[in-house]
Amino acid sequence: MAPTGEQLSYSDAYSRSVVARVRGIEAGEPPLLILDRTVFYPGGGGQPADRGTLRRAADGRTWTVTSARKVGDEIGHQLETADGELPAEGDEVEVDIDWARRHLLMRTHTALHALCGVVWRDYSAQVTGGNMEPGNGRMDFEFERMGGELVDEIEEKVNAELTAERDVRVNLLPRDEAFAIPDLIRTKINLLPPGIETVRTIEIVGLDLQADGGTHVANTREVGGIRVTGYESKGRINKRIRIELTDA
Ligand SMILES: [Zn+2]
Repeated sequence: MAPTGEQLSYSDAYSRSVVARVRGIEAGEPPLLILDRTVFYPGGGGQPADRGTLRRAADGRTWTVTSARKVGDEIGHQLETADGELPAEGDEVEVDIDWARRHLLMRTHTALHALCGVVWRDYSAQVTGGNMEPGNGRMDFEFERMGGELVDEIEEKVNAELTAERDVRVNLLPRDEAFAIPDLIRTKINLLPPGIETVRTIEIVGLDLQADGGTHVANTREVGGIRVTGYESKGRINKRIRIELTDA
């Protein structure tokens, strides 16, 4: 079997456009287009999939890509088509993501890491889940004593970390090496399937290190600021914090 297509969102979150060839169409409702390379992020880890367009080189016909998702190891692209026509296998296409939306997601995603990092460093509370939309998101923590006054403090601390212009790095580590890093254990790295040989990590240098598949900005200054918009108890121990970017 041929190797999977090149998946640029994991290696370079800033690549927003690429020329590719159609490798095949995964039949289904809707059918999903597989390319030999793509800049689309297929969704996962709380980050929604990209949207964008495909433009066929031969005749300029353009399709809206409404979503993307993993199809086995490949990334499948969901296309809007009124007449049922899709690009054919072998067609050359220009692949573009909705960059304004993606960049907002990268900023939001990085802000959530900063939140996780502060809550772990200063309150020893573990994250249990999270989700985001462009410009806002939420995280759940095992954080029994979380309350209104702490939330104000957390907001202030997260903003201080963002202004500190910390670099954000992507690393691919061999499985054994990743499992030896104590900080990674808290992000449930132990739940990774046994077959995975390399672990992708995202590090906000000096603040946060997580096993993660999403897209992030390269420095916290690019995030701007955040505001805590709400918090809830999801039980005695489990608490949820909602944030938004202040200039989203
Ligand atoms: Zn992330």
